[in-house]
Amino acid sequence: MPLAGQRCLRHPDREAVARCPECRRAYCRECVTEHDGRMLCAACIARLRAPVRAERAARGSLVKLAGRLLRGAGKAARLGAGVLAAWLFFHALGETLAMIPDATHTVGAAATSADDSAEPEDGE
Ligand SMILES: [Zn+2]
Ligand SMILES: [Zn+2]
Repeated sequence: MPLAGQRCLRHPDREAVARCPECRRAYCRECVTEHDGRMLCAACIARLRAPVRAERAARGSLVKLAGRLLRGAGKAARLGAGVLAAWLFFHALGETLAMIPDATHTVGAAATSADDSAEPEDGE
């Protein structure tokens, strides 16, 4: 072992008994803990555990976010389809209604103008 004569990184007065396989630093017996069958230093154990938690949390929030987005998209799609259907209905209704007054107006205007032209001759 190349640990002979090496000192613990945290305790310079203590002799190192193990080398952390993660950070390759020497530590005394008190500074290393068994983790997944390896003797790791406390810092590396914390570092190895933290990302997993963070990743899990991130993945969980991502799944939640995706689900929320999908639900929102579905709602928006339904809303959009409803608005489109309503728009098409009112558009068709408007077109139909627009045709009717136009026809009556044209007929009425023609009749009025005919009356106007005929009136002076009748009156005098
Ligand atoms: Zn380490
Ligand atoms: Zn130590």
